[in-house]
Amino acid sequence: MSGWNHRHVIDLAAFSLQDFATVLELAQRFRSLPDAGARKLPALQGRLMTTLFFEPSTRTRSSFELAAKRLSADVQSFSPSSSSLSKGESLLDTARTYVAMGATVLVVRHRCAGVPACLARDLDRAGERVAVLNAGDGLHSHPSQGLLDLFTLARHFDPLAPSPEGLRGRRVAIVGDVMHSRVARSNLWALTACGADVVLCGPPTLVPEAFADFVAAPPPGQHEDPVPRRGSIQVVRSLEEALPGADAVMTLRLQKERMQQQLLSSLDTYHRLYGLSRDRLALCGQPVPLLHPGPVNRGVEMAGDLLDDPGAHLVEEQVRNGIPVRMALLYLLAAGDGAGAQNSLKPSSSRP
Ligand code: ASP
Repeated sequence: MSGWNHRHVIDLAAFSLQDFATVLELAQRFRSLPDAGARKLPALQGRLMTTLFFEPSTRTRSSFELAAKRLSADVQSFSPSSSSLSKGESLLDTARTYVAMGATVLVVRHRCAGVPACLARDLDRAGERVAVLNAGDGLHSHPSQGLLDLFTLARHFDPLAPSPEGLRGRRVAIVGDVMHSRVARSNLWALTACGADVVLCGPPTLVPEAFADFVAAPPPGQHEDPVPRRGSIQVVRSLEEALPGADAVMTLRLQKERMQQQLLSSLDTYHRLYGLSRDRLALCGQPVPLLHPGPVNRGVEMAGDLLDDPGAHLVEEQVRNGIPVRMALLYLLAAGDGAGAQNSLKPSSSRP
């Protein structure tokens, strides 16, 4: 795939504009396959994806599992509570055990930022040929969610040919708990790389002013990226400032499990100031796509009646899009190059 040279996917800061385009293009191909749910592609036959999740997950793990199965990979999943970690085995030794069983890709989620990156570095040093895919680490990064959000928005603006260009100059409002959100951080890298202007909205305890400079320092290698202009980031305190003129709105879950102190006066006040309802969305001045990475705190980030109306938001569409986006990532990390890999994108005749 043109220009793709990542052995691991840890965060989106390292992605070039071409990388975003490659993922969107492949995801669109997988999403558009006729009878996509019923037929498998042989692309990852003989490969093994192992999920190592040290934090709960509803969407991400199942979505990776389905994605791997649709590409004919074998799937194995590790559960920390019944593993030898409780007997003192290190995380690296646990990972190497799965590599010894043949894992080609380790999909890792951990509550501590940096764990997938350390694992990738240590496995590289140990000479193991395995890809690490970050499925969410602490507050740091959730690249597959950032990419599926990007794909969802790009498809909204151009359903037939979603691309990073579709985001250029769009105003995207991200509302809520940015401080504790790895999803917000991944979206900031992805959206601004594609030239979208992001408006972050929330109280100072959840959206510190410093986020305005989040992507200010170019990551290593960024200067070679043919990005005409990175999008801007603005921090505002009210929906009245954030929503007028927005082309899209994303609201984030209040991550109570990551808050070490009382950062809100009450959930009711939060909903009154930052909760999205039909009336609030009318401030945008036009119908806009509304995203939420899930899980949603009903009646807090979004009014219940809004959540119950599938025509009013893209929450389920995000879930649907997660599968082809994760197929694209697994394919890029595990399929290898060449004609064989290209042929493996044709559906096999066998049923799953
Ligand atoms: N599911 C996303 C995550 O794991 C968002 C959230 O939990 O609020 O980060």
